[in-house]
Amino acid sequence: MTLFESSLRTDGSRTTVHPADVHGRFNLWRHVVFYGLIVLWVLLPWITIAGRPAVFLDITARAFYLFGLSFNAQDLWLLFFGATGFAFALVAITAMAGRVWCGWACPQTVFLEGAFRKIERLIQGPREDRLRRNKGPWTVNRLARIAASHAFYAGLSLLIAHVILSYFVSLPGMFQMIRENPGAHPEAFLWTFGIAGVTYFNFAWFREQFCVVMCPYGRLQSVLLDEQSLVVGYDTKRGEPRGKANSSNAGDCVDCRRCVVVCPTGIDIRNGLQLDCLACTACIDACDDIMDRLHRKRGLIRYDSFAGLAGSARRFWRPRLWLYAALAMIGLAATSFAFSSRRSFEANALRPPGVPYALRDGYIDNAFQIHVTNKQAQEEPFVFESQSSELDVTLGASSVRLRAMASTRIPIVVRIRRERYRTGAVAIVKVTNRQGDFQLVRLQLAGPEP
Ligand code: SF4
Ligand code: SF4
Repeated sequence: MTLFESSLRTDGSRTTVHPADVHGRFNLWRHVVFYGLIVLWVLLPWITIAGRPAVFLDITARAFYLFGLSFNAQDLWLLFFGATGFAFALVAITAMAGRVWCGWACPQTVFLEGAFRKIERLIQGPREDRLRRNKGPWTVNRLARIAASHAFYAGLSLLIAHVILSYFVSLPGMFQMIRENPGAHPEAFLWTFGIAGVTYFNFAWFREQFCVVMCPYGRLQSVLLDEQSLVVGYDTKRGEPRGKANSSNAGDCVDCRRCVVVCPTGIDIRNGLQLDCLACTACIDACDDIMDRLHRKRGLIRYDSFAGLAGSARRFWRPRLWLYAALAMIGLAATSFAFSSRRSFEANALRPPGVPYALRDGYIDNAFQIHVTNKQAQEEPFVFESQSSELDVTLGASSVRLRAMASTRIPIVVRIRRERYRTGAVAIVKVTNRQGDFQLVRLQLAGPEP
């Protein structure tokens, strides 16, 4: 027994939703977006920028390549700014356009509606056939269709898992792993099958429940929306009272329930905006089709604000949106600044373990190492020069070539006459790369109290 229609009953058990096919302008544009995104996600590891895949997250080497930029573990702090900017942007977009992300671009929706439901429809037929078959006995035909659907779900899940794997090991790496014995790469093998298993469970069975009971963003929407946010809504003033098409005092809703049977979460939008609504627009297309057939104006269910649906004036800019937009801009500016202030290499002074200095023949010797990390996506030469002519600085190497994202340590000994040593004395070594970017590394000398 449910209060409203939903995929969940009040006792927590689930009703399997079999949404009907829907056609219309929103459905068409959503599928253009879905297939565009799927192509993009699949192609990203194939596209090469500056000699590397557009996206390559090489966790074993702690090197990350994103659209021609390269990062290492020291750049993890940038993730904070990136995530904050993205979160504020999502908050601003939600306040403006509701759950547009859920309905149009979330991978859960894109793969479910753009691929898995298509397989189901192709093999098991339209909603009416599926419902009729499910009510009937277990026949060979029914079993064969279900088995075939699940075989394709499993195959597609494996394919998606391999696409995800290619983001982490690169395409050549993945093809090499596929050719080799799984025992040679047990972690990659287990991860791929683990991801494929979760993907299969999610898209073959769990489906809309992920959005309804698991996704935190769906829960947040109620606090992010206000009466001016764009939502998919039913025009109660125009639609009620529901009645037959030829009834004189009835509203425009003929209670055909097309909007309910196409809904992927099984809800009735006429009960008002609900947490389960993904703003997928299927009910808009379904109702527009009914209105066309009845020669009535489209838009009984439409994209509108609560204020617009209630017949009040629409106002785009309001204090909450200014605030969210300002926070999103600050997040974006901080992210851009963080990325632009990123260095092409890192050079830091390290002291080897043990006593910091040695006394020899009236001299103080300080041993150091300069730790250099090449953060470029290609091999780079580095040149080391002492900037302290008054000190005797012996460099372990005057230059070095480092592979992409590789590090090395250059030993250095700084010698100073004992009587010239003062607390706070420093030697400076300049490290320069091919582009002329340089860093001055300060070597703080240690010695006995003068
Ligand atoms: S599709 Fe439109 S007319 Fe039919 S029940 Fe839904 S709101 Fe009413
Ligand atoms: S109520 Fe309409 S927009 Fe919301 S999930 Fe159902 S069909 Fe999609």
